[in-house]
Amino acid sequence: MNLKSKELALSILLAFVVTAPVQATDSPFSKLSEQQQLSEDMLREIVGFETTSERPDETRKSLEAMIARLKDAGFPSEDIELVNPGDGQYGLVVRYRGLGNEKSLLLLAHMDVVTATPDAWAFPPFSLGKKDGYYVGRGTSDNKAGVVQILSNFIRLKEEGWVPGRDLIAAISGDEETDGAVAKWLANEGRALIDAEYAINSDAGGGEYDESGQHKAFWIQTSEKLYQTYVLTASNEGGHSSLPRPENAIQDLALAITRLAEYEFPVIISDSTRMRLERSAANYPDELSRDMLALVEEASDIEAARRLSAADPYFNATLRTTCTPTMLNGGHAENALPRDASVTVNCRIMPGTPAIEIERKIASLIDGLEIEITIIYEGIPSDPSNMPAAFLEGNEAMVEARWGEIPVIPNMSPGATDGLFYRNAGIPVYGVGAAFSKPDDMRAHGLDERLGIFEFHESVDYWYEMLKTFAD
Ligand SMILES: [Zn+2]
Repeated sequence: MNLKSKELALSILLAFVVTAPVQATDSPFSKLSEQQQLSEDMLREIVGFETTSERPDETRKSLEAMIARLKDAGFPSEDIELVNPGDGQYGLVVRYRGLGNEKSLLLLAHMDVVTATPDAWAFPPFSLGKKDGYYVGRGTSDNKAGVVQILSNFIRLKEEGWVPGRDLIAAISGDEETDGAVAKWLANEGRALIDAEYAINSDAGGGEYDESGQHKAFWIQTSEKLYQTYVLTASNEGGHSSLPRPENAIQDLALAITRLAEYEFPVIISDSTRMRLERSAANYPDELSRDMLALVEEASDIEAARRLSAADPYFNATLRTTCTPTMLNGGHAENALPRDASVTVNCRIMPGTPAIEIERKIASLIDGLEIEITIIYEGIPSDPSNMPAAFLEGNEAMVEARWGEIPVIPNMSPGATDGLFYRNAGIPVYGVGAAFSKPDDMRAHGLDERLGIFEFHESVDYWYEMLKTFAD
């Protein structure tokens, strides 16, 4: 820790002591600062819109509400664009003009949410509630907090008269949870609006508490697995079940499923994975920690990889491509030989591995069986974004000053975000959600979605500092 960050750490510590989080039931703050009030008001306003895929008009209105705030803060109309690449697809692009010293920085969030059934919730999902130190409402964590992290800081920084060293571009999409058409359009046809050196995505990464609520790790998402789905179909001429033959569509399919289950996709240790294993090993029990470090040394240590994969499916997903059966169909009558049987196989392919290699592997595994492979969902590949040292070190300094010496760890999501469209178009993307939560408190897409009030404001503040750090 250098002297400068020590001073910063002390001043942050003092700031927290002065604003002493009062243990009220509903909020950790006795009074919000001006900036915190603005952030809360913006969050309340956008959570109030039912921005699901069934209600694109609500998404448009929520974006228009943000446009009104940006104009009030002095952003000129020519730097604000409501984009509408297709029917019911809306997004917002705002350019915060800088001195043009370097290529622009792109900042990503999404306004749309998955549907919520009000009857099943303890709170009305489309209004901002406060309970036990949390903001509650659909979108609080995924990803309306991200919209506020970006846009409330645009407003604050503009009002402070700050001129960034380079342009900052906010791209808020309105269909991340469904088609991703807005991000896809912006990354390609609309490229001139958002072209940037790299993007920071509020919709991935984030801080992790341990069970006792201590700060444990700070994650930055650098890659996403490729989502690809196949159907394997066994066909046969069928017949009467009183006269069975050795060839049977269901038996053939069962053999195929068994061969797939027994196959182990090769371990792939990318730069990000190596760093992830190295930096998080200390947080795991000794035997796992030893295996993680063994793989850092020697990616071909298959025994270490096997023990890790057996210990936790998360390790398995981190180390290799996975293909697993998810749906099964077959036969047409109790007393007939099946004419066909099929299984749906969902694959999550390691970034950088071409999907065709996986398809060829599956074909070779079922060689000799009368089985056809079809692709029913073809994903968009996105290469991993390796973190430049300056971005990693900048975040490490900010994390250490605020939360002490915890590891900053690159990670790969087994799922996808808008980031994949930008990575696919050649713009590296780093996911910095920045809000801390406990790993067992993941309620995005689920019931009573929530985000810690204290953690939300901390994350907005982190973004304030991050924008100033990387724009200058
Ligand atoms: Zn999201």
